[in-house]
Amino acid sequence: MHDSGALMSNDRLFKIDQLRERNIGKYLPLPQLVAVGDQSSGKSSLLESVTGIPFPHGQELCTRYATQITHRRDTNSFISITIIPGPQASADHKNRVEGYHYEVESTAQLQAEFPDILNKVNICMGIRTDKNPDGDKTFTTDVLKIEKCGPDEDYLTVIDVPGIFRTTTDGVTTTKDRDMVKNMVTRYIKDSRTIILAVLPCNVDIATQEILSLAEEYDKTGQRTLGVLTKPDLVKERSAKASVCSLVMGERKTLNLGYYIVRNRGGDDDENDADLEEREDMFQQEPWSRLPQDRVGVKALRERLQDLLGEITDLAFPKIRAELRSMLLETDEALVKLGPPRQTERQQQQYLVGIAGKFQSIVRAALDADYSSNKFFSEDSAERPERRLITLIVNITHWFNSAFRNTSQTFYFKGQSEKPQDDDIKDNQNTLEDVGRLPSYVSGCPHLANIIVTNWSTDDPKTGIVAWIEENYRRSRGVELGTFSPAMLSGVFREQSRKWPTLTQQYLSMAIIAVHDFIALCLQAACGETDADKITTNRIFDGVINELVIRYERAMGQAMHLVELERERKPYTLNHYFNDNVQKSRGIQVKNYASRHAFTEMHGNPNYRQVVAINDLSKAITDKSNAEHIRDEIHENLQAYYQVASKRFIDYVYLQAVDHHLLSGPDSPLRLFSERWVLDLNAAQLAAIAGENRHITTQRQNLKMKADDLREALKIL
Ligand code: GDP
Ligand code: MG
Repeated sequence: MHDSGALMSNDRLFKIDQLRERNIGKYLPLPQLVAVGDQSSGKSSLLESVTGIPFPHGQELCTRYATQITHRRDTNSFISITIIPGPQASADHKNRVEGYHYEVESTAQLQAEFPDILNKVNICMGIRTDKNPDGDKTFTTDVLKIEKCGPDEDYLTVIDVPGIFRTTTDGVTTTKDRDMVKNMVTRYIKDSRTIILAVLPCNVDIATQEILSLAEEYDKTGQRTLGVLTKPDLVKERSAKASVCSLVMGERKTLNLGYYIVRNRGGDDDENDADLEEREDMFQQEPWSRLPQDRVGVKALRERLQDLLGEITDLAFPKIRAELRSMLLETDEALVKLGPPRQTERQQQQYLVGIAGKFQSIVRAALDADYSSNKFFSEDSAERPERRLITLIVNITHWFNSAFRNTSQTFYFKGQSEKPQDDDIKDNQNTLEDVGRLPSYVSGCPHLANIIVTNWSTDDPKTGIVAWIEENYRRSRGVELGTFSPAMLSGVFREQSRKWPTLTQQYLSMAIIAVHDFIALCLQAACGETDADKITTNRIFDGVINELVIRYERAMGQAMHLVELERERKPYTLNHYFNDNVQKSRGIQVKNYASRHAFTEMHGNPNYRQVVAINDLSKAITDKSNAEHIRDEIHENLQAYYQVASKRFIDYVYLQAVDHHLLSGPDSPLRLFSERWVLDLNAAQLAAIAGENRHITTQRQNLKMKADDLREALKIL
């Protein structure tokens, strides 16, 4: 046995060797040798002669898949055998073949176990053979990979591909097989980094060998195709020998780089065959002895291959460099996408603090309606109104205000328009549409469903306030002289404000949904878009949801508390508008009465004047029955107080429940997910939220290693 690695001692390959050590071969193909030719032309045998590695040959009809032999420098010596799934392999098949792995210690062991190994590989790939009759295919694009590792291994990749064939055999090969094999071979020889060894047996006519035209097609300048003639020992006729010789001498220019002639091991396991030197003794004889010695035998071929590999490598460098560069770019991008590492407590904290910072800066801008500061707000804002939070809240508050004005009272007041303003209607329609468009996480959040309502409909007030007041008065009057008791006003006010709790709950519900949806979107934006980011988003959300719900409840509670204060306490106000209103409505009554009794005075005065007799005027107040008078008074007081109380109430609900408890107060739900919150997490909580899946850690390590390798490789080149 000759030793194997000797092919690569050339200095020019030192760089490739270094790349190899940097594992670059893992990322992109480096220069490689591939033997192509017809079935049984001696490809496998040739590669064995050149590399000393026993290729499977002669045992079966032919090679059924590509075999790639690579060398890798490693402190330990071993040979590892794996299968690379073909490009179109199904997930199932991929799993199966990738599950195969076998290791041997030496070439000798490999040789001894080869038949057995191949049998297992065939079963794994599903190749049909005598020993594996259940196999379902004759050829496969799966690649058998044999990696020879050791401290002295030089760079070299050698590929043995199935032989191409033209005629199909019934029950064995199909035209589909034929095309598949041809494609497989083409894929290898297409690569400008591949040195093509066109293997031709001496005992056939080279004119019939398809491989030469195929090689020419992909290696137009012929600078990486070597012709190798095998089986010279099988040529018996003198004229045939002469014809082979003229080929080797370059007298028939069919290949740029010319032909080499080698004698491989024959199929008969002849004792003579065992030794290369003995086999090559034949070249000492006529007519072979007349051939130039640098074209004869394995040693000469190896030397030529070595030079050629050097040249091809030089040529391949720019392309390799470009590929390394773009690969490095991709790797760096992938690394950025993975985000910062999050293994240690500190890294996890930094990671979350970063997200919380982004979250809070969006919150700040949202509360200030500073929508140009962050692209968060420009993303489909029409479809997602909750992004522009404060605007939505203001709209909702307008809805509340006008719904309150128009529908909050149980009875219409006297003279109150039963039709709300057109502007209000339009405004409210838009707000309700906005709220309806919120994706609302209510369905996915049962806690929220217990706090809020989602029915926005409101009942119109009833008519007949005068009758109702009268009825009330009749039922509850005491011994009062010409007036009514304060309890009376309390009672009618409570009745008149019966819808306040429902309206307020609707208002708070809209605001809570808006805030909640905003938080969800904002969190998503702060975390990022990748799958890993989405995991983080969900974990943070899970981490804050309980406290969020508590804060929503607090806001709702505050609002309901305010309702209760207004409705359950004795009506009271210091607001001078109350008196103003009462007096104004009295004035209106007097004016109404007076205008009914007025007449027009002319007196040569250019301006018309309405005049009322003083006696008539006094009747404006005295003309009523006591009950009538009190009824009117109750109505005046109720209306005046209702106006003052509802304005006060609306303001306070907004200021306290919505603004303070939901938006800008220090304990609002928007302020929850903050740096403070992150810093308060203990180690276990931190790890649960920010810790990364092991596969991401591995992925990052691999990418980092790859990026380092690539950077180093670029430096080498
Ligand atoms: P492949 O199908 O192209 O890989 O061809 P193989 O390498 O399997 O060789 C086919 C047969 O030819 C095997 O039995 C080999 O031993 C035999 N063979 C290959 N090269 C030579 C040679 O130079 N001389 C002789 N006598 N037999 C050879
Ligand atoms: Mg073969």
